[in-house]
Amino acid sequence: MSNSQAAIQRRIEQIKAELAQLGPLRPGHLSQQYNVCGTPGCRCKATPPRKHGPYYQLSYTCQPKTHSEFVRLENLAAVRQQLTNYQRLRALVDEWIGLALNAAQLQRQSDSPWPKPRPKSRIPRKAAP
Ligand SMILES: [Zn+2]
Repeated sequence: MSNSQAAIQRRIEQIKAELAQLGPLRPGHLSQQYNVCGTPGCRCKATPPRKHGPYYQLSYTCQPKTHSEFVRLENLAAVRQQLTNYQRLRALVDEWIGLALNAAQLQRQSDSPWPKPRPKSRIPRKAAP
């Protein structure tokens, strides 16, 4: 195994270890919303309006549909951590795939059925007398 292949395998082992340590996760995107209610004379209809909120909405795609749900304020920190963990998962998986492609290419080069071209050694001819 070449040095670079060994380095790739080491990094893959690190990625696996980090994946195993990853906490709870969920996909999605958080957005803030401000709402207007139906109460007459409420501050949300004043001039200027002071709308209710922010409310946190989580959107995610579970093929083939996009879903969204409100997130309670007391769950916000946990949900943010889950979103971060999900991003980390995707980053680690992408990195692993990239390393796997790299390793496959290195393997192909070392398995090559064609001999590597060698620089020709030039023996200087003796100058003709
Ligand atoms: Zn209102």
